[in-house]
Amino acid sequence: MAARAGKRKAGRAVLGIHAACTLVALMIIASLAFVLDRSVTEADRFGLTAERKLVESEMQHQIDAVVQYQAELSYWDKSFAQLETQTFTDAFVKEELTDWLWKDFGFSWMIFADASDRTLLAVQNGGKVDPQDGARTLKWADDLIEKANDSYEAALVAKGGAWALRSVEVDRDALTAPVPNIHAADLRMIDGKMSIVVVQAVVPKTLDIPASRRKPVFMITVKPFTVRMIGDIEDRLGIFKLGFAPLRQVPEGSIHVAVSDCSQPACMVAAWTPRAPGSFVRSETLPSVIVIAMAGALVMAFIAARFGAVFSALQTSEAENRHLAKHDRLTGLFNRAGFDAVLEASLAKVRERPFSLLCIDLDKFKAVNDTYGHPAGDAVLKTIASRFAARVAGHGVAARLGGDEFTIILDHTVSREQALALANVLIIEAQVPVPFEGQLLRIGSSIGVAFAPDHGSIAREIVPLADQALYLAKNRGRNRVQTADDLVSAERLLETGQAA
Ligand code: GH3
Ligand code: MG
Repeated sequence: MAARAGKRKAGRAVLGIHAACTLVALMIIASLAFVLDRSVTEADRFGLTAERKLVESEMQHQIDAVVQYQAELSYWDKSFAQLETQTFTDAFVKEELTDWLWKDFGFSWMIFADASDRTLLAVQNGGKVDPQDGARTLKWADDLIEKANDSYEAALVAKGGAWALRSVEVDRDALTAPVPNIHAADLRMIDGKMSIVVVQAVVPKTLDIPASRRKPVFMITVKPFTVRMIGDIEDRLGIFKLGFAPLRQVPEGSIHVAVSDCSQPACMVAAWTPRAPGSFVRSETLPSVIVIAMAGALVMAFIAARFGAVFSALQTSEAENRHLAKHDRLTGLFNRAGFDAVLEASLAKVRERPFSLLCIDLDKFKAVNDTYGHPAGDAVLKTIASRFAARVAGHGVAARLGGDEFTIILDHTVSREQALALANVLIIEAQVPVPFEGQLLRIGSSIGVAFAPDHGSIAREIVPLADQALYLAKNRGRNRVQTADDLVSAERLLETGQAA
């Protein structure tokens, strides 16, 4: 029973080790998953921020490029001269506008207008059109004309009865020609296409403005984004599906940056499918993470199995040792230590619960050993022990103190008479031959009985009396039961005999 309880305890402890190892394995897996997830999220966040910045600066770069191209015409004495009469020669339109800006750079509109939107010349797709058509396009760039005009006014300084524009500081690091800050540019939807719109005041290279021409004429150009331009940007930035759309119609899974004033309902954005470096990080690191997680889980499983087994063996052996400390290895009955403990416990309550103590010694047991060998003797001890144990089950305990000596404590539920009757049954049980390897081994037993508390209420008193009764039984011819009461009459008999 004790061994079973020990095993149950060991089982619980092993379960604990397994649970702890499983927990550690799960924590390893969870931490790896957490780290992976964080890396993916951070990579995506970092990637998206970088892509947004790239697209924004690319858009600015495109605008700056158009400003540069257009500046060649706007800050040019020839253009300024053309505007003096406000008539544009066919040669100027063909060479500068049609053959150059339209054919080479694809400027869909080139319009010359003054600050009050009076259109002087409108060229659409390389051909001169009615200035009124140009004026319609201009309404999309009204604010830009206003801005360019403000910049122009701000840059203007009086110079010897005339005017001059503040010269621009040369920036050695810019790698582009300096352009006076008298322009405005932005991205706009023109004719259904996202376009770069640049408004620049037309001035001479010298930046000297005669008094008569203080009011500026602006050159407004429209450069639509073509499929090829967008493809080039995609290739350069390594992004996919770049396009322009109203904010509300941004395709699912895209990211975007505003290209127009997004406080307005008509806010337009540049949208594209992000590279999402997180998925790259995930696909690159996931196999390693799985391998590490599996290795961690395997190590923990190994530790759980190894330590579980060792711990279980230790617990079982400890339970066995505890059991053996109080039990006889051969018969499984209590040994002397176990018996002493039961006797002490019984004596502690002897006033309320009287009990009977039986001391038993097998008769002629040695002869079995001598005739059939030690194993035969062992078999007899085991069989007799189990017969005794079966007889007292539920009413007391049996113990083997050593050799062929047994003791039995019968509890308060067994009366004196019943105890003596049971002792006689045990005498008969011991006489029943024990089969061993085809032989029938015969022995007997002598029993001495003492009753507690009548014959003593401490071990020192009662045990010797039961022992002496046993020896009386031996002396009176074995295979019999004698009680401590018989000792008195035996003594008297002895005294009488001696007197005679
Ligand atoms: P008696 O009738 O007077 O009791 O004599 P006996 O032959 O029974 O011998 P005794 O009780 O004096 O001695 C018991 C013997 O039991 C002595 C020893 O050799 C033997 N013995 C002690 N322990 C064991 C054991 O574990 N196994 C076996 N087979 N024999 C044992
Ligand atoms: Mg004996």
